[in-house]
Amino acid sequence: MNLHEYQAKEIMRKYGLPVQKGKVATTPEEAEKIAMEYNGPVMVKAQVHTGGRGKAGGVKYAETVDEVKNYSTSILAMKIKNLPVKKVLIAKAVDIKKEYYLAVIMDRDKKFPLVMASREGGMDIEEVAREKPEAITKLWVDPVYGLFPHQAKEITLSLFDGKTLALQSVNIVIALYKLFAECDAQIAEINPLALDGEERLWVTDAKVVLDDNAISKHPEIESLRDPDPGEEKELAAKEAGLSYIPLFGDIGCVVNGAGLAMATMDLIKKYGGEPANFLDIGGSSSPEKVEKALEILLTDRNVRVIFFNIFGGITRCDDVAKGIIQATTKMKIELPMVARLTGTNENKAKKILKGSPIVPVPSMREGAIKAIELSKAG
Ligand code: GDP
Ligand code: MN
Repeated sequence: MNLHEYQAKEIMRKYGLPVQKGKVATTPEEAEKIAMEYNGPVMVKAQVHTGGRGKAGGVKYAETVDEVKNYSTSILAMKIKNLPVKKVLIAKAVDIKKEYYLAVIMDRDKKFPLVMASREGGMDIEEVAREKPEAITKLWVDPVYGLFPHQAKEITLSLFDGKTLALQSVNIVIALYKLFAECDAQIAEINPLALDGEERLWVTDAKVVLDDNAISKHPEIESLRDPDPGEEKELAAKEAGLSYIPLFGDIGCVVNGAGLAMATMDLIKKYGGEPANFLDIGGSSSPEKVEKALEILLTDRNVRVIFFNIFGGITRCDDVAKGIIQATTKMKIELPMVARLTGTNENKAKKILKGSPIVPVPSMREGAIKAIELSKAG
């Protein structure tokens, strides 16, 4: 789960990190008010789930309240990497002398959190990583022991020479790691970590990405979720107990079990079709779940045929058949549907579906072939 900069900064503040002052606004008038309160230059910053906002024109330095209003108006009308800007952060500008980079990320290869730091922070950090990897210090942390003081010190010394800065920064490194570990983050990044003219360090940009599988441990964080366009359907499915991932093809699949869902997608591909989604209705599915699954699939305009591939075990085929019939009575479904229902109560299921327009198939192979054929017809 992605957080906005202002939300990430809120969390960082709670962990005692030196975050520059700032408040979020949804209209230019609100932005203006905040700027008047700060009485001095501010940054106007687009709040979208992507980096590179500065280069896209979504981060502006404003000296006057008028400038704040103008920048807010234009930024709130922008799309950055196709994401509409709905909020701007008005942050009291830091007088930046130098920009540093500091992050903790989950290193999936090493299976350890990785702390990274560089004296060459700012908007070109990706380029630094590519062209000058030696300018980034890397240090892996064993999560069982956590970050050792000597490790925090090592990171600090890679960034700063002076004593005042070393002291500030060692606390920043420790706090950032603590946040990363306690919030089950995948990324906790400060870029830039800014140094001002008075030898003070400031968090002027913050990025926090949380592990979706651990969100249930943090109900207060779940409430910060702001779905991106397209993400809503996945969340609705999750709420209904389904796991749904939209893809790019035209064959909608309703399957029970993740393994069978993968196998179904493979088979469709093998015979020349393209699955429109991964959708696992899970075990013990009720007719209501099947109905919900269809409801979600029908909002995908690319879908031209629906293929049910159910291997009945705990999931009962008659429940699935009931769900299909219920859905057809409640919703207007014009798409052809193919059903392979085998296993528990398959005969009952057959009876339920008899006389309906649903095309029965004896195997998943034949189901895939039939679904592809129907997707290409008419
Ligand atoms: P990003 O482009 O999405 O990473 O957005 P950032 O928040 O990092 O802003 C981009 C750049 O704007 C930074 O690298 C800084 O150079 C500059 N910037 C951000 N905040 C401030 C600030 O408070 N004062 C000044 N002078 N520059 C800032
Ligand atoms: Mn940044």
